[in-house]
Amino acid sequence: MKRPALLLIALSFALLSVLALGHLNQSAAVPAARDASPADLLSSVRDGGTKVIDCSYTYFEGMPGIKLPPPLANTKTFELTNISRYDERGPAWYWNWFSVGEHAGTHVDAPNHWISGRNNNGVDRIDVSELIAPAAVIDVTQKASSNPDYEITREDVLAWEKANGRIPNGAIVVMRSGWGKRWPDPAKFLGLDSNGAPHGPGFGDSAAEFLLKQRSIAGLAVDTVSTEAMALAGGKKPTPFPVHFMVHGAKKYQIEMLANAELLPAKGAVLIIAPVKVQNGSGAPARIYALVSSR
Ligand code: MN
Repeated sequence: MKRPALLLIALSFALLSVLALGHLNQSAAVPAARDASPADLLSSVRDGGTKVIDCSYTYFEGMPGIKLPPPLANTKTFELTNISRYDERGPAWYWNWFSVGEHAGTHVDAPNHWISGRNNNGVDRIDVSELIAPAAVIDVTQKASSNPDYEITREDVLAWEKANGRIPNGAIVVMRSGWGKRWPDPAKFLGLDSNGAPHGPGFGDSAAEFLLKQRSIAGLAVDTVSTEAMALAGGKKPTPFPVHFMVHGAKKYQIEMLANAELLPAKGAVLIIAPVKVQNGSGAPARIYALVSSR
């Protein structure tokens, strides 16, 4: 055979090998993903391949909580009452009861929280399959440090997608703003200015509208007290609190005061969200775990 023919055969073989390898890799990866079982997840957690991050704050009396201006009514955050502690009221046991706001601490806002979703599901009726969700984490720490009223824009979402791919279906889109560093100081966490008015970053209208209409998300989450930029959301917009209005009108839920957002990667984390099941509740305190690959 002449040299060009040999070269052609060699090249064809190389190309076929690459295609075959590609195919093998793909077919090896797909069944593994399909076959992943609860036992696989457990062994991955046990051997450290999957890290579990606690994304909920501890409840305690005096913890930071939202404060609306008068004449609006406010929530209790958390109060603990002791029943007995190995004493005459209960010699061998310790127990308490507590009262807590539906919107205190790390919590879920149910789709019926807002007037736009008044006939939508309460927190007890959110489909549990929607409460295990991939996290798409948009970092605005720099922007929020120079502007505590920063609002995530549609362009911020598109920039995230340019770096990380399309927002996954069923995702919780998380705002990471660096606000976690301010916990547990109420004045710092609420961003109170010298007039006592709260400040904190949030989702802007354009980002919320884009995510709800152009993508298929489970909901939004923030590491601040509200998904809205607090100083701008109340009386300064055509629709007050537009993010709540849009999200709940679209039958979606929100998470506020997510803890440890700074430990989450931009993509790849899975959130397991477990709100207390209050009948027709407008929201509820939630224990939230993030599963993150450590490999
Ligand atoms: Mn809330």
